[in-house]
Amino acid sequence: MSFFEAHDPEFSTYVLGNAPVKQLATGFDWVEGPVWFGDANCLLFSDIPNNRIMRWTPDEGISIYREPSNYSNGHTRDLQGRLISCEHGTRRVTRTEHDGSITVIADSYEGKKLNSPNDVVVKSDGSIWFSDPHYGIMTNYEGYKASQELPCNVYRVSPDDLSITVVVTDMDCPNGLAFSPDESLLYVADTAAMFKEDAERHIRKYKVDNDITKDGQIFHTISPGASDGFRLDTDGNIWSSAADGVHCINPMGKLLGKILVPELVSNVCFGGRAKHQLFITATTSIYTITLNRQGAQYP
Ligand code: MG
Repeated sequence: MSFFEAHDPEFSTYVLGNAPVKQLATGFDWVEGPVWFGDANCLLFSDIPNNRIMRWTPDEGISIYREPSNYSNGHTRDLQGRLISCEHGTRRVTRTEHDGSITVIADSYEGKKLNSPNDVVVKSDGSIWFSDPHYGIMTNYEGYKASQELPCNVYRVSPDDLSITVVVTDMDCPNGLAFSPDESLLYVADTAAMFKEDAERHIRKYKVDNDITKDGQIFHTISPGASDGFRLDTDGNIWSSAADGVHCINPMGKLLGKILVPELVSNVCFGGRAKHQLFITATTSIYTITLNRQGAQYP
């Protein structure tokens, strides 16, 4: 069987012909938020409905990292290597300090509770950018059912005083997000189509100017499925989740090819020895594949 589907000849140089898509672990309910800790040689990810963060290492396999996790979803690391987590259950973004204590980064905006922070990235100035759709408060499955107090926005948290500003307000359900390698662009996925058949399934591209986003343009429409999360490689190609696997989209918005995964993919991250290994969270399982590409280095 082939693990790839090329839509452009260039894609054949991005993949290794003999590298398989490998299942690392399975038996979860809905996994998301993968983040690689190279210094600990491990992957963390959320098993959201089971209210836990899991840990995988090449030598020891799977163990529980944190339970309960407050229904955590997306994760990333900050410039000091600390874990930054989106939590549905507590409707907040947190930082896990090196001593294990938890610092709340954001839980409200203008006196109103956040919805359910979903995905997060850190810019090279240390600011924390996160999406806040309402998925975690719609039912009791991935958090606690509650009423929505704020629109579904994207926010920026200042590294200096943790003050919060709203940076994207024109999307239905902003979800995955990531910067271009030079941080001049912010890509944000809209997953409204997961619940509204006629809604767009696009990734939008915003210019970033002095931490203000502008000119939000439709960059690429994912099919089948929708983009829940993505990460970029060093040349600015986007590796995005989709219903049939991981789609590789170049900076012009063209689909170059797909990595085929047997379950619906939610998110990805780069890691491994040379940042050339793509870790894939897909419904009930974790998969990996080694690529001939490396995850983006940010300024
Ligand atoms: Mg997500």
